[in-house]
Amino acid sequence: MAKDRRVAVINQKGGVGKTTTTANLGAALARMGKRVVVIDLDPQANLSLHLGVDAAEGSPSIYQVLLDELTMEQALRTTETPNLSLAPSNLDLAGAEVELVSAIGRETRLRDAIDAWIRRHQEQHGEHPFDWLIIDCPPSLGMLSVNGLVAVHEVFIAVQTEFFALRGLSKLLDLVSLVKRRLNPSLEVSGIVAGLFDSRRNLSREVLEELRTYFGPRVFKTVIRENVRLAEAPSHGKSIFDYAPESNGAADYASLAKEVVARAEAEDAPPSVEAAQGA
Ligand code: ADP
Ligand code: MG
Repeated sequence: MAKDRRVAVINQKGGVGKTTTTANLGAALARMGKRVVVIDLDPQANLSLHLGVDAAEGSPSIYQVLLDELTMEQALRTTETPNLSLAPSNLDLAGAEVELVSAIGRETRLRDAIDAWIRRHQEQHGEHPFDWLIIDCPPSLGMLSVNGLVAVHEVFIAVQTEFFALRGLSKLLDLVSLVKRRLNPSLEVSGIVAGLFDSRRNLSREVLEELRTYFGPRVFKTVIRENVRLAEAPSHGKSIFDYAPESNGAADYASLAKEVVARAEAEDAPPSVEAAQGA
């Protein structure tokens, strides 16, 4: 069976495109007919607002799921995009970082909730509840991000093609290794999403080169160009495909989604006869 696709979009630096990528990659995959669930793990709730969901404090959110007060099903909301649902967040989640510290099973809360949901869904409907699950992590490496890393199989690191882009990445990679060793052997850094790219700037091109040297083919070929439409879409509560379907931003995220799916399909495909013989 194909392994289910669960991705955490992470970088402890803010403003590098994590939320923009989660919202618009999620929407692009949904438009390709995939059943997509995105989870907002940032108390700032930018992802929720981006997708037009306002979960006021006290209303169902991923916060209660982490505290075992609600199931995933109870927290999920539909969005304007068919096939795309969201587990929203709000400022309540800021408390979770502290509240979880003394909780039993604190690192595995989110994974446990997702696994329980998958089991129930399988029993009731005879199928997996999603094709893709994408988690938007907060700009820190605390308990919330750890929960995100434990709940997925893959990490996409969002980086801004700017000076200092690689700064702090070793700390992030150390955390990923630690989580892999202790809590989640399936975890891999499988994608680097280079964003806010301005081809006119030498610096952008240099940083991209540096990323490719370091991470090799894990850097997606699709680079997300700087595009003002991507910055405007969140305040309209729409994905880029609903807000500005003709924009470069829409083209880039559609292209990224195709690349992401092609990679996944190549991994899931049984090895070809030539590959098996060549080994
Ligand atoms: P993070 O979630 O890592 O903090 P965001 O996705 O919120 O980063 O992006 C930071 C800011 O930059 C937001 O205002 C967002 O709208 C804007 N932004 C993100 N990607 C692009 C892009 N490719 N072009 C222009 N603006 C962008
Ligand atoms: Mg964000």
